[in-house]
Amino acid sequence: MTVIHSAEFAQEGRELKGSIPLSQLSRLSDLLANTSGEVAWHIESGMDELQRPWLYLEVKGSLQLICQRCLSAAPWQLHAETVLTQFATEEQIDDAEAHDEDLEGILIDPELDIEALVEDEILLALPVALTHDVCGGDDALAKLASDKPNPFAALAQLKTRKAE
Ligand SMILES: [Zn+2]
Repeated sequence: MTVIHSAEFAQEGRELKGSIPLSQLSRLSDLLANTSGEVAWHIESGMDELQRPWLYLEVKGSLQLICQRCLSAAPWQLHAETVLTQFATEEQIDDAEAHDEDLEGILIDPELDIEALVEDEILLALPVALTHDVCGGDDALAKLASDKPNPFAALAQLKTRKAE
């Protein structure tokens, strides 16, 4: 288990990388056709212009989901990114999210469990109903419709501000 103090980590502008076997992600593994393989994660951090600590999380991997039409394995490339801004109270999160619809707030956690955070992010990124383009084909490819916004722009903005 990898644990960090989420706010101190960001104040120090630290980065961390790792990988987790899919078989260790118990909430996710129920949704997979096959739990072999692993996901890679990468965290960057810093302080925004309002001196709020933030974490950027990127998660990548090749998953075998279950086709919702034929119920056999459907390969799916996971690539999820998110920027999480940290707050001391739920009230502060609600207030900040009300003023910035792109903001995603989390509570400062002195013992943030990275594996749990990564699993949460994967569960959020999963397509609602994945199906093969053509079921039964040898090279049946999974298609997905995902309208999850890309937080790359937000990260680029944070980095620009930091460099100023
Ligand atoms: Zn299928």
